[in-house]
Amino acid sequence: MNISGIKHKKTKIAAKYHSFLKLYIEQENKMNEMLSYTMIYCHNKCHMKPIGCCSSDWSEHGLKNRHILKLFRKLRGIAKKTGKEPCPWHSTKKGCMLKMLKTPVCIGMFCPSIISFLKDNFAIKYDRAEFTGYFENILKGNINKNKIDHFNRVIDKMVNAFEKKKSVFTRL
Ligand code: SF4
Ligand code: SF4
Repeated sequence: MNISGIKHKKTKIAAKYHSFLKLYIEQENKMNEMLSYTMIYCHNKCHMKPIGCCSSDWSEHGLKNRHILKLFRKLRGIAKKTGKEPCPWHSTKKGCMLKMLKTPVCIGMFCPSIISFLKDNFAIKYDRAEFTGYFENILKGNINKNKIDHFNRVIDKMVNAFEKKKSVFTRL
């Protein structure tokens, strides 16, 4: 392969991973619609304050693909690291400093206490592995329109349930 061939190949690879990340960020924003409610629980009721579930550095957990890891690092540059233990992105006052591009495990993480809260108050069965797996699959390119539509419907359903019983959150 000549030099221009290598360049072309590199451009194609970069475009592929950029498209994975574009979808990842879109779906992370969708997930945040739901998390904007559950964070009220975390803020007021967390039994592991002030660290919460960020008790280890999960910020690059599972990012095995070097192209993906490079893009995560590059695009996250706009956020301000705290550089503190246990996770360099964690702030005891503000929580996670990353507004986007958290790892799949960080996005999907709910502890047993909030999972029970969702079940008892909204009849929601939250499956951590399912949510984490969804974001892992986006990074692998193992995704299709049906899966995306299903995910969006699940999130909409959860948000609707929260909207209907907002008082559950205001009482926390
Ligand atoms: S998910 Fe659980 S441990 Fe994590 S911040 Fe919320 S309440 Fe705390
Ligand atoms: S990246 Fe953010 S959510 Fe993940 S462990 Fe660090 S502070 Fe917590």
